[in-house]
Amino acid sequence: MSKKRWRSPQTKSITPQRGLALFRKYALVYAMKMVDSTVTMRRQSATWTRSGEVVGLVPTMGALHKGHLTLIRRARKECRRVVVSIYVNPIQFGPNEDLARYPRPHQQDLTLCRREGVDLVFAPKNLYPPDHSTYVEETERSQGRDGSSRPGHFRGVATVVLKLFNLVRPTRAYFGQKDAQQVDVISRMVRDLDVPVKLVVVPTVRDPDGVAVSSRNRYLSPRARTLAVEFARLLQQAVKKKINPASWLGQQLKKASGIKLDYVEIAGDRLCVAVFIGKTRLIDNERLRAYP
Ligand code: AMP
Repeated sequence: MSKKRWRSPQTKSITPQRGLALFRKYALVYAMKMVDSTVTMRRQSATWTRSGEVVGLVPTMGALHKGHLTLIRRARKECRRVVVSIYVNPIQFGPNEDLARYPRPHQQDLTLCRREGVDLVFAPKNLYPPDHSTYVEETERSQGRDGSSRPGHFRGVATVVLKLFNLVRPTRAYFGQKDAQQVDVISRMVRDLDVPVKLVVVPTVRDPDGVAVSSRNRYLSPRARTLAVEFARLLQQAVKKKINPASWLGQQLKKASGIKLDYVEIAGDRLCVAVFIGKTRLIDNERLRAYP
């Protein structure tokens, strides 16, 4: 008879980390903190910093979808504490943009965060005093693309991200490749201003039909959704072209009725594009396959 003791396969695979993750997922009274005050946020991050905890921050504007959840899951794997910030940052919206109608399904967002084992949701009501007068402006990578189409957008983004870094004091911060220029601007800001945080860039999450997941996709009518699929398909085709992928994509999009081209540009090794489908503005980017 074998002398080996029998162990259930389940018991064998439960490491302390996995045990903690399962506890977070299934515990009935899992206490996720919800903080809307900057003072409380600072106090909490000071406690975590003192005890040397690895803190991951996922900055979002809410209306969470599977793109955001992918960032949160990555943070959950790599960090002892996970903070999700939810803040629709008014200063990154232009006067004619969709600030007022931006979706804010707060309770649903909290449920999703709880399910993912987030430790703290930081959802401040307002981050700017009435006489706020200091901004962060990156002046190189914020040029062109969204920087041209949305003047002041990256100044708003860089300012709020630095404020969030100062309040949450994360060890690691998670951003999506979907917003490629945002990643370019934030990484330059972090380098230039010696911000002690490691940036983690997560690949773009797409729906099965190829459309990059976005909070703004909920504005799309069924007809607009088919145009968004066409937009995503043309981008995937363009990045395989050896010659002039940007002008090829521009021509195809100008021909597509119902799609209005905003810009198409190559930045580094990526083809970046923005369009309007009806009133909804969609951005996307992919790595050029045929380039060295
Ligand atoms: P937002 O709430 O739109 O400001 O996005 C918050 C973060 O989620 C940003 O870092 C985005 O780049 C990222 N994100 C949004 N959509 C996606 C996606 N489809 N795939 C990966 N990351 C995404």
